Amino acid sequence: MISRLKPYSFKPYPWQLENWNTIQSATRAERMAHAILFTGPVGIGLEYFSKCLAAGLLCDNSGDELQACGGCRSCHLIQGESHPDLVTIEPEEAGKQIKIEEIRRLIDFMQLKSQYGRYKISVITPAESMNRNAANSLLKTLEEPPGQSLLILLCHRPNLLPITIRSRCQQLRFKPAYDEATVRWVKENIETDENVQHLLTMAGGAPLAIPEMLENNIFEYQRNLLNDLFALKAGQEDPVKIAEKWKAYDTSHVLFWLSQLFSDMVRIKSLAKPVRISDPSMIGRLQELIKQLELHELTGFYHLLLENYGMSTGTISYNSQGLLEDVIIFWQNLNDPE
Ligand SMILES: [Zn+2]
Repeated sequence: MISRLKPYSFKPYPWQLENWNTIQSATRAERMAHAILFTGPVGIGLEYFSKCLAAGLLCDNSGDELQACGGCRSCHLIQGESHPDLVTIEPEEAGKQIKIEEIRRLIDFMQLKSQYGRYKISVITPAESMNRNAANSLLKTLEEPPGQSLLILLCHRPNLLPITIRSRCQQLRFKPAYDEATVRWVKENIETDENVQHLLTMAGGAPLAIPEMLENNIFEYQRNLLNDLFALKAGQEDPVKIAEKWKAYDTSHVLFWLSQLFSDMVRIKSLAKPVRISDPSMIGRLQELIKQLELHELTGFYHLLLENYGMSTGTISYNSQGLLEDVIIFWQNLNDPE
């Protein structure tokens, strides 16, 4: 859906300009680190940004500004994903681990001399998917990096990355974006009839997450969750069955959306304007759902959602069914008229 975007303009997205300036100042002052860790939510464009940086460092005409020209031999090789001085390490399949063999391949690559006389650049994405052996084998390279080399780690959940790795990298955080320029970019690059400001809020400020959200029909998803909450409240549904049904989606997504819904309900209850719900008919339904609840009950439930959401994205393994049933039973008891 972002097909109208030219894939390799090598210009960072508008919401990445502050980070880009930081990188530019570092190169101008010749204090570019040998290892950089980019962190930010999925959909903020870390991979694209790392490609802009790699292109800028390898381009024949970029200079201090790091703006790749797009026309030189090096830029063409990057466009064709075949630059001999740039390697990307990722899991064989999405969601799988990066293994030690992959990191050994990276280390061998970094030891070689640059073919084009500039940098040797390795990108690891997502860095949190390195298993323990892989991460350990990377430490020596982080401590004694070969000359003119750059290691870029992309990471969505930095708390999953060993502290020994994190502490050896210069960290650059990509913040969620909600500003005017970002809204304009979404309007120009993503085809939708929905309210863009609202979409961006629902995407947690990560613009590139929007196309997938639209594809998965997120609005219908939200309405279905709400229907289930009504059915549970009326005692018409079995908690185990609803948990089974919700498990069809990624657990952390379900908990994220529920916490968004309930954050709005807390706002409605305290007479504030909901921020994530734009559909007025839905606001009426939320009011109906929480009519008989006290504010403290609602905030109690909201905190449970946040807690379980935290567990679903944390470092400890969890049982999806248990996490969801926990939420559902708490909700049912809230509504128990006895
Ligand atoms: Zn170039």
